[in-house]
Amino acid sequence: MHEHCMQGMINSPNLNLGHPCFSTSGHGKTGRIHLAVAPGCNISCNYCVRKFDCANESRPGVTSKVQTSVEALETVKKAKSSSIGSKLTVVGIAGPGEPLANSATFETLRGVKQHFPEMILCLSTNGLLLPEKIEELVDIGVSHVTVTLNTLDEKVGAKIYSYVRWEGKTLIGPDAARILIDHQLEGIKLASKAGMTVKINTVLIPGVNDQLLYSLGMEIKKRGAHIHNIMPLIPQGKLAKNMAPTKDELISSRSSLGLILPQMQHCQQCRADAIGLL
Ligand code: SF4
Ligand code: SF4
Repeated sequence: MHEHCMQGMINSPNLNLGHPCFSTSGHGKTGRIHLAVAPGCNISCNYCVRKFDCANESRPGVTSKVQTSVEALETVKKAKSSSIGSKLTVVGIAGPGEPLANSATFETLRGVKQHFPEMILCLSTNGLLLPEKIEELVDIGVSHVTVTLNTLDEKVGAKIYSYVRWEGKTLIGPDAARILIDHQLEGIKLASKAGMTVKINTVLIPGVNDQLLYSLGMEIKKRGAHIHNIMPLIPQGKLAKNMAPTKDELISSRSSLGLILPQMQHCQQCRADAIGLL
């Protein structure tokens, strides 16, 4: 094992944070139910192919069948009455688009909380609407949130995002990225202040955002994030010709960022409709 690799592990103590996906050490004995109720998205990531699930939290190349909130609640009831039902402790919404840009997300989470108050509620978001929706999420009882934050720099952001839809307008370039990044950072701070457990996903894109990640790690720590997940770019969409990071690049990045926050080592990316133990 490389020395820097061991260093990363030393600086990434095993965490669980009450949720199987938020563990640094790997899969546990509990699982999650993913509900694919959120097809729409309000930004365009250049590594996204919209006929598939959101690339920020989901398995590449998979298209989940979208459900209504009523169907989703039925899915939860069915899963909870199955043989592994007692082990399914988390309900998560991670797509297939942006959860916070779809009203079905909120209806679904409220319905689940009403019928299964003991279940942990979780969602992943690109962060654009997080400051605006944080009070509603607190009110519903969402306790775990994942924000995908790829850069702090709007010029780098302009290479990662084609557009951001904000207040009825479609913004492009660094101005669009600035709005997104500012909302992501504010949302992380508000979620952490509200007592949520906050995971940050960062897609490692060699030659695009790999030089500035240490300052990103420092910033998210300052804003109260608990755990960081560096994900390799899957070259697809407009970034189909970019290179994915090598295994060594990924390990090295996780090791240096592990000096700041615990790093996830095991994430395999789930489908937006995945149900089962991790
Ligand atoms: Fe695709 Fe997710 Fe980005 Fe939306 S936030 S463009 S669904 S990767
Ligand atoms: Fe796990 Fe993300 Fe799904 Fe939450 S949204 S249950 S963190 S995969």
